[in-house]
Amino acid sequence: MTLVIDGHPFAYEMENLCRLFFPHGGIRTVREESGDGDQIYTGAERRADGILLSVRARLGASERGRKKLLPAGTEDRELERCMAVELWGMLADLSGVRPAWGVVTGVRPLKLFGRIARKRGEAGAAAYFREKLLVSPEKAELARMTWRNQRSLLAQARPDGFSLYVSIPFCPTRCAYCSFVSSSVEKAARLIPGYVELLCREIRRTGEITGGLGLKLQSVYFGGGTPTVLSADQLAEVIRTVRQSFDFTFCREFTVEAGRPDTVTIAKLAAMRVGGVTRISINPQTLNDDVLREIGRRHTTAQTLSAFALARRHGFGNINMDLIAGLPKDTPESFRNTIAGVTALSPESITVHTLALKRAARLNREGGSPGPQGAEAAGEMIAFADGALQERGYRPYYLYRQSRMLGNQENTGWAKPGFENLYNVFIMEECQSILACGAGAVTKLRDPGSDRIERIFNFKYPYEYISRFAEMMNRKDRVTEFYGTAGG
Ligand code: SF4
Repeated sequence: MTLVIDGHPFAYEMENLCRLFFPHGGIRTVREESGDGDQIYTGAERRADGILLSVRARLGASERGRKKLLPAGTEDRELERCMAVELWGMLADLSGVRPAWGVVTGVRPLKLFGRIARKRGEAGAAAYFREKLLVSPEKAELARMTWRNQRSLLAQARPDGFSLYVSIPFCPTRCAYCSFVSSSVEKAARLIPGYVELLCREIRRTGEITGGLGLKLQSVYFGGGTPTVLSADQLAEVIRTVRQSFDFTFCREFTVEAGRPDTVTIAKLAAMRVGGVTRISINPQTLNDDVLREIGRRHTTAQTLSAFALARRHGFGNINMDLIAGLPKDTPESFRNTIAGVTALSPESITVHTLALKRAARLNREGGSPGPQGAEAAGEMIAFADGALQERGYRPYYLYRQSRMLGNQENTGWAKPGFENLYNVFIMEECQSILACGAGAVTKLRDPGSDRIERIFNFKYPYEYISRFAEMMNRKDRVTEFYGTAGG
Protein backbone atom coordinates (compact mmCIF):
# COMPACT_ATOMS: atom_id res chain seq x y z
CA MET A 1 0.00 0.00 0.00
CA THR A 2 1.12 3.54 -0.69
CA LEU A 3 0.93 6.36 1.84
CA VAL A 4 1.09 9.86 0.40
CA ILE A 5 2.54 12.61 2.58
CA ASP A 6 1.76 15.98 1.05
CA GLY A 7 2.68 19.34 2.58
CA HIS A 8 3.42 18.20 6.16
CA PRO A 9 6.27 16.56 8.10
CA PHE A 10 4.26 13.86 9.96
CA ALA A 11 5.23 10.87 7.84
CA TYR A 12 6.40 8.78 10.80
CA GLU A 13 3.21 9.23 12.80
CA MET A 14 0.92 8.68 9.80
CA GLU A 15 2.79 5.51 8.88
CA ASN A 16 2.45 4.21 12.43
CA LEU A 17 -1.26 4.91 12.38
CA CYS A 18 -1.70 3.07 9.08
CA ARG A 19 0.13 0.10 10.58
CA LEU A 20 -2.51 -0.14 13.32
CA PHE A 21 -5.11 -0.90 10.68
CA PHE A 22 -2.91 -2.85 8.27
CA PRO A 23 -0.39 -4.65 10.50
CA HIS A 24 0.58 -7.30 7.96
CA GLY A 25 1.16 -5.44 4.72
CA GLY A 26 4.07 -3.26 3.66
CA ILE A 27 3.61 0.52 3.52
CA ARG A 28 5.51 2.65 1.00
CA THR A 29 5.67 6.36 1.75
CA VAL A 30 5.70 8.76 -1.22
CA ARG A 31 5.24 12.49 -1.80
CA GLU A 32 2.79 12.40 -4.71
CA GLU A 33 -0.45 10.62 -5.46
CA SER A 34 -0.54 8.07 -8.24
CA GLY A 35 -3.38 6.50 -10.14
CA ASP A 36 -3.03 2.86 -9.21
CA GLY A 37 -3.18 0.46 -6.31
CA ASP A 38 -4.32 0.87 -2.72
CA GLN A 39 -3.46 4.34 -1.53
CA ILE A 40 -3.91 6.56 1.50
CA TYR A 41 -3.46 10.28 1.04
CA THR A 42 -2.68 12.77 3.84
CA GLY A 43 -2.21 16.43 2.99
CA ALA A 44 -1.97 19.85 4.61
CA GLU A 45 -2.58 22.91 2.47
CA ARG A 46 -1.80 26.38 3.85
CA ARG A 47 -4.38 28.79 2.47
CA ALA A 48 -5.51 32.35 3.18
CA ASP A 49 -8.40 31.11 5.35
CA GLY A 50 -6.34 28.57 7.36
CA ILE A 51 -4.75 25.14 7.02
CA LEU A 52 -6.83 22.58 5.19
CA LEU A 53 -6.21 18.98 6.25
CA SER A 54 -7.30 16.29 3.81
CA VAL A 55 -7.21 12.54 4.18
CA ARG A 56 -8.57 10.05 1.69
CA ALA A 57 -8.25 6.36 1.05
CA ARG A 58 -8.66 4.14 -1.97
CA LEU A 59 -8.64 0.53 -0.86
CA GLY A 60 -9.86 -1.96 -3.45
CA ALA A 61 -13.32 -0.82 -4.45
CA SER A 62 -13.82 1.40 -1.37
CA GLU A 63 -13.06 5.09 -1.29
CA ARG A 64 -13.46 7.48 1.59
CA GLY A 65 -12.23 10.98 2.44
CA ARG A 66 -12.36 13.72 5.07
CA LYS A 67 -11.38 17.38 5.31
CA LYS A 68 -10.89 19.78 8.19
CA LEU A 69 -10.00 23.46 8.20
CA LEU A 70 -7.78 24.65 11.08
CA PRO A 71 -6.88 28.24 12.03
CA ALA A 72 -3.75 29.55 10.28
CA GLY A 73 -1.62 29.76 13.44
CA THR A 74 -2.21 26.15 14.57
CA GLU A 75 0.96 24.72 16.11
CA ASP A 76 2.61 21.69 14.54
CA ARG A 77 1.85 19.39 17.47
CA GLU A 78 -1.88 20.20 17.26
CA LEU A 79 -1.78 19.93 13.48
CA GLU A 80 -0.29 16.46 13.80
CA ARG A 81 -2.93 15.42 16.35
CA CYS A 82 -5.78 16.68 14.15
CA MET A 83 -4.44 14.91 11.10
CA ALA A 84 -4.02 11.70 13.11
CA VAL A 85 -7.60 11.98 14.37
CA GLU A 86 -8.93 12.47 10.83
CA LEU A 87 -6.90 9.58 9.45
CA TRP A 88 -7.84 7.30 12.36
CA GLY A 89 -11.55 8.16 11.97
CA MET A 90 -11.51 7.49 8.26
CA LEU A 91 -9.68 4.16 8.58
CA ALA A 92 -11.90 3.08 11.48
CA ASP A 93 -14.99 3.77 9.34
CA LEU A 94 -13.53 1.89 6.43
CA SER A 95 -12.31 -1.14 8.35
CA GLY A 96 -14.79 -1.37 11.20
CA VAL A 97 -11.77 -1.69 13.55
CA ARG A 98 -11.36 0.84 16.38
CA PRO A 99 -7.86 0.44 17.89
CA ALA A 100 -8.20 0.80 21.64
CA TRP A 101 -5.30 3.23 22.07
CA GLY A 102 -6.77 5.64 19.50
CA VAL A 103 -4.08 7.75 17.89
CA VAL A 104 -1.54 7.03 20.66
CA THR A 105 1.09 4.97 18.85
CA GLY A 106 4.22 5.56 20.97
CA VAL A 107 5.73 2.92 23.20
CA ARG A 108 5.44 5.04 26.34
CA PRO A 109 1.84 6.25 26.65
CA LEU A 110 2.38 7.00 30.34
CA LYS A 111 5.02 9.60 29.56
CA LEU A 112 2.47 11.36 27.40
CA PHE A 113 -0.20 10.95 30.07
CA GLY A 114 2.13 12.46 32.68
CA ARG A 115 2.94 15.44 30.46
CA ILE A 116 -0.75 16.17 29.98
CA ALA A 117 -1.57 15.50 33.65
CA ARG A 118 1.00 18.08 34.76
CA LYS A 119 -1.02 20.71 32.87
CA ARG A 120 -4.59 19.43 33.22
CA GLY A 121 -4.52 17.18 36.29
CA GLU A 122 -5.12 13.44 36.37
CA ALA A 123 -8.83 13.53 35.44
CA GLY A 124 -8.07 16.11 32.73
CA ALA A 125 -5.40 13.87 31.22
CA ALA A 126 -7.78 10.89 31.19
CA ALA A 127 -10.42 13.07 29.48
CA TYR A 128 -7.82 14.29 26.96
CA PHE A 129 -6.87 10.69 26.19
CA ARG A 130 -10.53 9.80 25.55
CA GLU A 131 -11.71 12.89 23.74
CA LYS A 132 -8.69 14.25 21.90
CA LEU A 133 -6.67 11.10 21.32
CA LEU A 134 -9.62 8.69 20.87
CA VAL A 135 -8.34 6.25 23.50
CA SER A 136 -11.05 3.84 24.67
CA PRO A 137 -12.50 4.56 28.16
CA GLU A 138 -10.97 1.29 29.46
CA LYS A 139 -7.44 2.12 28.27
CA ALA A 140 -7.72 5.73 29.45
CA GLU A 141 -8.67 4.42 32.88
CA LEU A 142 -5.80 1.90 32.82
CA ALA A 143 -3.40 4.74 31.99
CA ARG A 144 -4.85 6.87 34.80
CA MET A 145 -4.53 4.09 37.40
CA THR A 146 -1.01 3.20 36.29
CA TRP A 147 0.12 6.80 36.36
CA ARG A 148 -1.35 7.27 39.84
CA ASN A 149 0.42 4.17 41.13
CA GLN A 150 3.78 4.98 39.63
CA ARG A 151 4.05 8.58 40.80
CA SER A 152 5.45 7.69 44.20
CA LEU A 153 7.94 5.35 42.50
CA LEU A 154 9.11 8.01 40.07
CA ALA A 155 9.64 10.32 43.02
CA GLN A 156 12.23 7.86 44.35
CA ALA A 157 14.53 8.42 41.35
CA ARG A 158 17.43 10.44 42.78
CA PRO A 159 19.07 13.03 40.51
CA ASP A 160 22.41 11.39 41.32
CA GLY A 161 20.97 7.87 41.14
CA PHE A 162 21.29 5.16 38.53
CA SER A 163 20.24 1.59 37.89
CA LEU A 164 22.47 -1.25 36.76
CA TYR A 165 21.40 -3.68 34.06
CA VAL A 166 23.34 -6.88 33.48
CA SER A 167 22.65 -8.86 30.30
CA ILE A 168 22.95 -12.64 30.09
CA PRO A 169 21.91 -13.20 26.47
CA PHE A 170 21.58 -16.98 26.52
CA CYS A 171 18.46 -19.14 26.77
CA PRO A 172 17.83 -22.90 26.92
CA THR A 173 15.97 -22.74 23.58
CA ARG A 174 14.65 -19.91 21.48
CA CYS A 175 10.96 -19.02 21.88
CA ALA A 176 9.01 -18.79 18.63
CA TYR A 177 8.07 -15.16 19.31
CA CYS A 178 11.56 -14.02 20.40
CA SER A 179 13.22 -11.17 18.55
CA PHE A 180 16.01 -10.54 21.07
CA VAL A 181 19.63 -11.31 20.42
CA SER A 182 19.52 -14.22 22.82
CA SER A 183 21.42 -17.32 21.68
CA SER A 184 20.26 -20.81 22.56
CA VAL A 185 22.62 -22.55 24.96
CA GLU A 186 22.91 -25.51 22.61
CA LYS A 187 24.60 -23.25 20.07
CA ALA A 188 26.52 -20.92 22.35
CA ALA A 189 27.44 -22.92 25.46
CA ARG A 190 31.17 -22.80 24.69
CA LEU A 191 31.07 -18.99 24.78
CA ILE A 192 29.62 -18.72 28.28
CA PRO A 193 32.80 -19.06 30.45
CA GLY A 194 34.66 -16.38 28.45
CA TYR A 195 31.57 -14.23 28.40
CA VAL A 196 31.17 -14.37 32.19
CA GLU A 197 34.81 -13.42 32.69
CA LEU A 198 34.57 -10.35 30.46
CA LEU A 199 31.17 -9.40 31.83
CA CYS A 200 32.69 -9.28 35.32
CA ARG A 201 35.45 -7.03 33.97
CA GLU A 202 32.90 -4.69 32.47
CA ILE A 203 30.92 -4.63 35.72
CA ARG A 204 34.07 -3.74 37.70
CA ARG A 205 34.95 -0.97 35.24
CA THR A 206 31.39 0.39 35.43
CA GLY A 207 31.64 0.38 39.22
CA GLU A 208 34.89 2.40 39.06
CA ILE A 209 33.27 4.95 36.75
CA THR A 210 30.07 5.42 38.74
CA GLY A 211 32.02 5.45 42.01
CA GLY A 212 34.31 8.15 40.61
CA LEU A 213 31.30 10.22 39.62
CA GLY A 214 29.64 9.81 43.02
CA LEU A 215 26.54 8.22 41.48
CA LYS A 216 24.25 6.22 43.75
CA LEU A 217 23.06 2.75 42.76
CA GLN A 218 19.31 2.40 43.28
CA SER A 219 18.38 -0.83 41.58
CA VAL A 220 19.96 -3.84 39.89
CA TYR A 221 18.38 -5.94 37.19
CA PHE A 222 19.78 -9.11 35.61
CA GLY A 223 17.93 -9.82 32.38
CA GLY A 224 18.57 -11.31 29.01
CA GLY A 225 18.04 -13.95 27.89
CA THR A 226 17.72 -16.12 30.91
CA PRO A 227 20.33 -15.30 33.57
CA THR A 228 19.66 -18.58 35.39
CA VAL A 229 20.95 -20.45 32.38
CA LEU A 230 24.38 -19.84 33.96
CA SER A 231 25.65 -22.47 36.38
CA ALA A 232 25.20 -21.74 40.07
CA ASP A 233 28.93 -20.91 40.31
CA GLN A 234 28.85 -18.55 37.33
CA LEU A 235 25.74 -16.84 38.65
CA ALA A 236 27.33 -16.48 42.08
CA GLU A 237 30.47 -14.98 40.51
CA VAL A 238 28.55 -12.32 38.57
CA ILE A 239 26.43 -11.43 41.60
CA ARG A 240 29.53 -11.25 43.81
CA THR A 241 31.24 -9.00 41.29
CA VAL A 242 28.28 -6.61 41.32
CA ARG A 243 28.27 -6.61 45.14
CA GLN A 244 31.99 -5.84 45.27
CA SER A 245 31.93 -3.19 42.55
CA PHE A 246 29.12 -0.95 43.81
CA ASP A 247 28.03 0.69 47.02
CA PHE A 248 24.61 -0.75 47.94
CA THR A 249 23.69 1.87 50.56
CA PHE A 250 20.91 3.34 48.41
CA CYS A 251 20.00 0.22 46.48
CA ARG A 252 16.43 -0.82 47.16
CA GLU A 253 16.14 -3.89 44.96
CA PHE A 254 18.09 -6.58 43.14
CA THR A 255 16.16 -8.53 40.51
CA VAL A 256 17.26 -11.61 38.62
CA GLU A 257 15.14 -12.97 35.80
CA ALA A 258 14.90 -16.70 36.37
CA GLY A 259 12.74 -16.69 33.25
CA ARG A 260 12.61 -20.34 32.28
CA PRO A 261 11.32 -22.50 35.12
CA ASP A 262 13.47 -25.40 33.90
CA THR A 263 16.63 -23.45 34.75
CA VAL A 264 15.73 -22.96 38.42
CA THR A 265 17.69 -25.20 40.81
CA ILE A 266 18.30 -25.25 44.54
CA ALA A 267 21.96 -24.32 44.01
CA LYS A 268 21.09 -21.28 41.89
CA LEU A 269 18.39 -20.14 44.31
CA ALA A 270 20.94 -20.44 47.11
CA ALA A 271 23.50 -18.44 45.10
CA MET A 272 20.95 -15.68 44.61
CA ARG A 273 19.89 -15.65 48.26
CA VAL A 274 23.48 -15.47 49.46
CA GLY A 275 24.14 -12.67 46.96
CA GLY A 276 21.24 -10.61 48.31
CA VAL A 277 18.90 -10.92 45.33
CA THR A 278 15.56 -9.54 46.52
CA ARG A 279 13.27 -10.35 43.60
CA ILE A 280 13.16 -13.06 40.97
CA SER A 281 10.96 -13.53 37.97
CA ILE A 282 9.73 -17.00 37.04
CA ASN A 283 7.94 -16.74 33.73
CA PRO A 284 5.40 -19.34 32.75
CA GLN A 285 3.99 -17.23 29.83
CA THR A 286 1.11 -19.73 29.87
CA LEU A 287 0.02 -22.69 31.97
CA ASN A 288 -1.13 -24.56 28.88
CA ASP A 289 1.40 -27.26 27.89
CA ASP A 290 0.17 -27.43 24.29
CA VAL A 291 0.83 -23.71 23.92
CA LEU A 292 4.27 -24.07 25.54
CA ARG A 293 5.17 -26.75 23.02
CA GLU A 294 3.91 -24.60 20.17
CA ILE A 295 6.11 -21.67 21.15
CA GLY A 296 9.24 -23.73 21.63
CA ARG A 297 9.70 -23.32 25.38
CA ARG A 298 11.02 -26.63 26.53
CA HIS A 299 9.34 -26.67 29.94
CA THR A 300 5.99 -27.73 31.34
CA THR A 301 3.41 -26.23 33.64
CA ALA A 302 4.43 -28.77 36.29
CA GLN A 303 7.98 -27.37 36.15
CA THR A 304 6.66 -23.82 36.61
CA LEU A 305 4.71 -24.86 39.68
CA SER A 306 7.63 -26.73 41.22
CA ALA A 307 10.12 -23.90 40.45
CA PHE A 308 7.77 -21.48 42.17
CA ALA A 309 7.35 -23.73 45.21
CA LEU A 310 11.13 -24.24 45.38
CA ALA A 311 11.75 -20.49 45.29
CA ARG A 312 9.22 -19.91 48.06
CA ARG A 313 10.84 -22.66 50.18
CA HIS A 314 14.19 -20.94 49.70
CA GLY A 315 12.88 -17.70 51.10
CA PHE A 316 11.96 -15.66 48.02
CA GLY A 317 9.10 -13.46 49.17
CA ASN A 318 9.04 -11.29 46.05
CA ILE A 319 8.38 -13.24 42.87
CA ASN A 320 7.14 -11.91 39.56
CA MET A 321 5.51 -14.03 36.86
CA ASP A 322 5.26 -13.02 33.20
CA LEU A 323 2.34 -14.03 30.99
CA ILE A 324 1.60 -13.45 27.31
CA ALA A 325 -1.85 -12.92 25.82
CA GLY A 326 -2.42 -14.01 22.24
CA LEU A 327 0.01 -16.92 21.96
CA PRO A 328 -0.63 -19.37 19.12
CA LYS A 329 -3.00 -22.19 20.11
CA ASP A 330 -4.07 -20.27 23.23
CA THR A 331 -7.76 -19.43 23.63
CA PRO A 332 -9.56 -16.99 25.91
CA GLU A 333 -10.71 -19.96 27.99
CA SER A 334 -7.24 -21.43 28.40
CA PHE A 335 -5.86 -17.96 29.13
CA ARG A 336 -8.47 -17.58 31.90
CA ASN A 337 -7.23 -20.89 33.33
CA THR A 338 -3.67 -19.53 33.22
CA ILE A 339 -4.72 -16.42 35.13
CA ALA A 340 -6.57 -18.56 37.67
CA GLY A 341 -3.56 -20.87 38.09
CA VAL A 342 -1.04 -18.06 38.42
CA THR A 343 -3.09 -15.95 40.82
CA ALA A 344 -3.66 -19.06 42.95
CA LEU A 345 0.11 -19.04 43.54
CA SER A 346 -0.20 -15.42 44.67
CA PRO A 347 3.09 -14.06 43.27
CA GLU A 348 3.83 -10.50 44.37
CA SER A 349 3.66 -9.21 40.80
CA ILE A 350 2.36 -10.39 37.45
CA THR A 351 3.33 -8.84 34.14
CA VAL A 352 0.83 -9.37 31.36
CA HIS A 353 2.28 -8.95 27.89
CA THR A 354 0.52 -8.99 24.56
CA LEU A 355 2.16 -11.04 21.83
CA ALA A 356 4.15 -8.79 19.48
CA LEU A 357 4.79 -10.21 16.03
CA LYS A 358 8.32 -8.96 15.58
CA ARG A 359 9.84 -9.33 12.15
CA ALA A 360 12.85 -11.32 13.43
CA ALA A 361 10.73 -13.83 15.36
CA ARG A 362 10.37 -17.37 14.05
CA LEU A 363 6.61 -17.13 14.52
CA ASN A 364 6.44 -14.26 12.07
CA ARG A 365 8.90 -15.68 9.56
CA GLU A 366 7.03 -18.98 9.43
CA GLY A 367 3.69 -17.26 8.88
CA GLY A 368 2.25 -18.19 12.27
CA SER A 369 0.43 -14.88 12.55
CA PRO A 370 -2.84 -15.37 14.45
CA GLY A 371 -4.73 -12.94 12.14
CA PRO A 372 -7.80 -10.84 13.00
CA GLN A 373 -9.40 -13.53 15.22
CA GLY A 374 -6.15 -13.74 17.16
CA ALA A 375 -6.19 -9.97 17.62
CA GLU A 376 -9.74 -10.10 18.93
CA ALA A 377 -8.91 -12.98 21.26
CA ALA A 378 -5.85 -11.09 22.59
CA GLY A 379 -8.10 -8.09 23.36
CA GLU A 380 -10.50 -10.36 25.23
CA MET A 381 -7.65 -11.95 27.20
CA ILE A 382 -6.18 -8.59 28.20
CA ALA A 383 -9.57 -7.26 29.28
CA PHE A 384 -10.10 -10.38 31.38
CA ALA A 385 -6.64 -10.14 32.96
CA ASP A 386 -7.13 -6.47 33.85
CA GLY A 387 -10.37 -7.22 35.71
CA ALA A 388 -9.21 -10.44 37.37
CA LEU A 389 -5.94 -8.97 38.65
CA GLN A 390 -7.64 -5.92 40.11
CA GLU A 391 -10.14 -8.17 41.88
CA ARG A 392 -7.23 -10.03 43.46
CA GLY A 393 -5.57 -6.89 44.78
CA TYR A 394 -2.95 -6.24 42.06
CA ARG A 395 -2.45 -2.68 40.83
CA PRO A 396 -1.02 -1.59 37.48
CA TYR A 397 2.23 0.32 37.96
CA TYR A 398 4.02 0.38 34.62
CA LEU A 399 2.84 0.06 31.11
CA TYR A 400 4.36 0.10 27.67
CA ARG A 401 3.57 -0.78 24.13
CA GLN A 402 5.54 -2.25 21.27
CA SER A 403 5.15 -2.16 17.55
CA ARG A 404 3.16 -5.02 15.98
CA MET A 405 1.32 -5.95 19.15
CA LEU A 406 -1.59 -8.23 18.53
CA GLY A 407 -4.86 -6.30 18.61
CA ASN A 408 -2.94 -3.12 19.40
CA GLN A 409 -2.99 -3.85 23.13
CA GLU A 410 -0.26 -3.20 25.73
CA ASN A 411 2.06 -4.76 28.32
CA THR A 412 1.21 -3.99 31.92
CA GLY A 413 3.10 -4.67 35.13
CA TRP A 414 0.73 -5.46 38.02
CA ALA A 415 1.90 -5.69 41.61
CA LYS A 416 0.55 -6.03 45.09
CA PRO A 417 1.05 -2.72 46.93
CA GLY A 418 4.66 -2.37 48.05
CA PHE A 419 6.03 -4.89 45.53
CA GLU A 420 6.37 -2.62 42.51
CA ASN A 421 9.73 -2.86 40.76
CA LEU A 422 11.58 0.45 40.56
CA TYR A 423 13.77 -0.61 37.65
CA ASN A 424 10.79 -1.27 35.39
CA VAL A 425 9.38 2.17 36.08
CA PHE A 426 12.73 3.94 35.77
CA ILE A 427 13.56 2.41 32.41
CA MET A 428 10.09 2.85 30.98
CA GLU A 429 9.70 6.46 32.06
CA GLU A 430 13.36 7.31 31.31
CA CYS A 431 13.73 9.18 34.58
CA GLN A 432 17.31 8.18 35.44
CA SER A 433 20.45 6.72 33.90
CA ILE A 434 20.71 2.99 33.32
CA LEU A 435 24.28 1.69 33.19
CA ALA A 436 24.22 -1.53 31.24
CA CYS A 437 26.76 -4.35 30.99
CA GLY A 438 26.91 -7.34 28.69
CA ALA A 439 26.15 -8.21 25.08
CA GLY A 440 23.17 -6.39 23.60
CA ALA A 441 23.00 -4.05 26.58
CA VAL A 442 22.39 -0.35 26.01
CA THR A 443 23.53 2.22 28.54
CA LYS A 444 21.10 5.11 28.64
CA LEU A 445 22.44 8.26 30.24
CA ARG A 446 19.98 10.86 31.41
CA ASP A 447 21.07 14.35 32.27
CA PRO A 448 19.52 15.09 35.68
CA GLY A 449 19.40 18.79 34.78
CA SER A 450 17.45 18.36 31.54
CA ASP A 451 15.67 15.75 29.45
CA ARG A 452 18.82 15.03 27.44
CA ILE A 453 19.34 11.31 26.87
CA GLU A 454 22.34 9.64 25.31
CA ARG A 455 22.82 5.96 24.54
CA ILE A 456 25.96 3.85 24.49
CA PHE A 457 25.56 0.57 22.67
CA ASN A 458 27.41 -2.62 23.55
CA PHE A 459 28.00 -5.16 20.82
CA LYS A 460 24.91 -7.21 20.19
CA TYR A 461 26.10 -10.79 20.01
CA PRO A 462 28.22 -12.66 22.56
CA TYR A 463 30.94 -13.54 19.99
CA GLU A 464 31.32 -9.84 19.07
CA TYR A 465 31.21 -8.84 22.70
CA ILE A 466 34.10 -11.19 23.39
CA SER A 467 36.19 -10.47 20.29
CA ARG A 468 35.82 -6.67 20.38
CA PHE A 469 35.74 -6.21 24.14
CA ALA A 470 38.52 -3.61 24.36
CA GLU A 471 36.85 -1.44 21.74
CA MET A 472 33.58 -1.56 23.64
CA MET A 473 35.21 -0.73 26.95
CA ASN A 474 36.62 2.44 25.44
CA ARG A 475 33.06 3.58 24.82
CA LYS A 476 32.51 3.55 28.58
CA ASP A 477 34.62 6.69 28.86
CA ARG A 478 31.65 8.49 27.36
CA VAL A 479 29.84 8.09 30.71
CA THR A 480 32.33 10.34 32.47
CA GLU A 481 32.29 12.85 29.61
CA PHE A 482 28.48 12.92 29.67
CA TYR A 483 28.29 13.69 33.36
CA GLY A 484 31.02 16.29 32.89
CA THR A 485 28.71 18.27 30.62
CA ALA A 486 25.43 17.39 32.38
CA GLY A 487 23.47 19.85 34.42
CA GLY A 488 21.33 21.73 31.97
S1 SF4 B 1 13.14 -16.58 27.17
FE1 SF4 B 1 12.97 -14.49 26.37
S2 SF4 B 1 14.99 -13.99 25.56
FE2 SF4 B 1 14.89 -16.22 25.82
S3 SF4 B 1 14.28 -17.02 23.82
FE3 SF4 B 1 12.42 -16.75 25.04
S4 SF4 B 1 11.68 -14.68 24.57
FE4 SF4 B 1 13.80 -14.84 23.85
